[in-house]
Amino acid sequence: MNLLTDSWIPVQQAGLQEKITFQQLLCGEKGGEICLPRDDMEFACLQLLVALTQVLFTPSDKKALVQRIKNPLTPEEYASGCEGKKDWFDLNHPETPFMQFRSVKAKEPTPMDKLMAGVADGTNKTFVNPQGLADGLCASCVSIALYNTAYNCPSAGGGFQPGMRGSTSITVLIATDSLRKTIWHNILTVESLNKEMPWYSQTSCMTPNYIDGLPPGAQYVFSEIGINRGLFWQPAKYQLCEPQPNLVCSCCGDTGRIYTGFLKEKLQPKYTISGAWPHPLSSRTFVIKKGGREEKFPSFTTTQPTWVHLPELVAEIQKDKEGYHPAPVIAQLRSYGANRLSFYVGGYRNGIKTTATIVERRHEMFSLADGWKDNSIVIDELIRNAQSYKNALSRALEDFYKLAIMSATSKKNRDRIKKIASQYSSVFYQQTENLIHDTLAHIDFDQPQDDLKSLYSDLKTVVIHLFNQATEPYKQEPKMLKALASSRRLLHQYLKELEAQGGNHEPAKSA
Ligand SMILES: [Zn+2]
Repeated sequence: MNLLTDSWIPVQQAGLQEKITFQQLLCGEKGGEICLPRDDMEFACLQLLVALTQVLFTPSDKKALVQRIKNPLTPEEYASGCEGKKDWFDLNHPETPFMQFRSVKAKEPTPMDKLMAGVADGTNKTFVNPQGLADGLCASCVSIALYNTAYNCPSAGGGFQPGMRGSTSITVLIATDSLRKTIWHNILTVESLNKEMPWYSQTSCMTPNYIDGLPPGAQYVFSEIGINRGLFWQPAKYQLCEPQPNLVCSCCGDTGRIYTGFLKEKLQPKYTISGAWPHPLSSRTFVIKKGGREEKFPSFTTTQPTWVHLPELVAEIQKDKEGYHPAPVIAQLRSYGANRLSFYVGGYRNGIKTTATIVERRHEMFSLADGWKDNSIVIDELIRNAQSYKNALSRALEDFYKLAIMSATSKKNRDRIKKIASQYSSVFYQQTENLIHDTLAHIDFDQPQDDLKSLYSDLKTVVIHLFNQATEPYKQEPKMLKALASSRRLLHQYLKELEAQGGNHEPAKSA
């Protein structure tokens, strides 16, 4: 199957599901929404479509990009973009199969469920996946799964390396009301590429790494990796086994030739990439150290909700010795002067101790009101302050439990106190999620004081309500009253401090 010529893109339009070709999609002959039973596979499919478009049809500048968004490609333009690159995207190519290597040495094939993130993990199997989801995959689903594994998943375990952005990094994709336009909104122009990667033109002819090979122990430097290679980087030695006829794809349900296993081989010694390659769909955080600037891709590491990460994902902020750089596609949209911004955020969270295990997957949409692009500092402050309300609740509750219930001197008791307080943090996050989304989507960024005041006042109400709810069962016991009064005083002191900060908010503008 070739991704440039065969029907592999699973879409749904007006209730009708079908697979269409990349040409039909970009030439505007067919469309619809990507449709698969798992949201992470849909997200990876969009990521793959964006990567293909970026590599084949990079527009030169803003004018050319706007043209592409407005008008579908002509068949001639499509053919000319694909010229010389068809071999890169052939799943069964005899020498350079898509996102695989040939002659992979393995004693026995690995079952296909290992290629579907999360499926093989005993802990989350039931809530993440319908039964039997990855017994076998069709050529379309296996292509998407290979890409997802290479970019979004933790490594396949000891001895295998994660994707070029590291393990489970967060991906950001700009959203619009049509699939074709969404793809183009996530494409960087030559002028943006030159800004994000000054080595762009010298490296623009580079091939994906599965064309050239993945030598053990190779040492790569991020500033020597071209766009084609960076967007099609296979971090592990994988090779699909021959597909079996007359089976059903356990992801999309299609019947035909189904892949039921693959070979995987450890790379020894490992290769290294020094520095963070500026992936178009990834934001980067940085710290300035003696040796220079150190960049990292953010990922979900805690149960904190996605909105907590927003400044890292969309804001352009440089503080003293640290800061954030938004995903290049968002930086481009900002420089091209877009008003509103809607975007998807997706990613897995893996276990801290067992890093190859996925404990959660996320796929959310956010909208930012007009003016977002000049107000990184407002976004940053809003999120920090909202978190401070949660912290005020946790600290007051920890204080209460410490005074009222148990001595906090032993580690066991301290851990218990933290655990009870953290349950209320989760409830706070659940109850405020919509509030944060709504504020971000409707805030008047030029005069944000009123909207912020109203948000903080709502957050305060939630905090007080949850504090009362948590302490309610102890209210009847006289010996608890002192502890309750003292913790409540503390809570109101925290809230007052926060109010003072929020009330003094000036509409600060970022650079
Ligand atoms: Zn399928």
